[in-house]
Amino acid sequence: MAKLYEGKAKILYSTEDPEILLSVYKDDATAFNAQKKGTIKGKGEINCTVASALFQSLETNGIATHYIDCPTPNQMRVKAVKIIPVEVVVRNIAAGSLCRQTGLKEGTVLPCPLVEYYLKDDDLGDPLLTRDRLFLLDIVTEEQLSTIHKMALKINQHLQEFFNRCQITLVDFKLEFGFDSQQKIILADEISPDTCRLWDQTETDPQARVMDKDRFRKDLGQVESAYSKVQERVLAALNI
Ligand code: C5P
Repeated sequence: MAKLYEGKAKILYSTEDPEILLSVYKDDATAFNAQKKGTIKGKGEINCTVASALFQSLETNGIATHYIDCPTPNQMRVKAVKIIPVEVVVRNIAAGSLCRQTGLKEGTVLPCPLVEYYLKDDDLGDPLLTRDRLFLLDIVTEEQLSTIHKMALKINQHLQEFFNRCQITLVDFKLEFGFDSQQKIILADEISPDTCRLWDQTETDPQARVMDKDRFRKDLGQVESAYSKVQERVLAALNI
């Protein structure tokens, strides 16, 4: 197995099959474009398990993903894709950069889901893109963007319903898409407490309810136990 790419949270290896890659989830945690670094013990296994459960649930609802299976708790076999260099963020409730950039108050319920596109480029600080900038940079065609937009909204609807069953509010999340060997757009990367904002519906306190990477970003403590709780509830909702 050759190491193809090491990201902040995962390492990607080739396998004997060129159409299959192995994604190894790490305990390393970064925030603010890697200016803050740390470790969240057990995160690799939790995120891989949560992502695997969510990918399978999305697949059964007709959303194509890169997921194949998990040979170990922190390893996922995935279809090889050409990643589209865009981070697609879907928001249901105002938080994070939306509040910083617009002045909207954290917790404001958005009238309808907001889909945003950020350029996947650490050197440029992942800037927010406009539709026209996406076309200017030749990242996607209008048709491909329309497919991504529709998929993002469908994923949001499914995940919102799923997390509601876990008594968790899906505030916002980030997706990445890629082209498979047939040039079809499929969901890639991960969906986990690292890439979503998840608020515990059984807690009213604005800090106590945080079950995601904001606990690490904002030094709220109890990061591991919050991630574990997400995993427990996700698996219980799937009867795993
Ligand atoms: O920081 P911001 O509010 O724009 O993040 C929106 C959502 O996207 C959050 O759930 C965050 O965890 C996720 N995100 C991510 N990776 C990034 C940027 C944002 O997973 N590089």
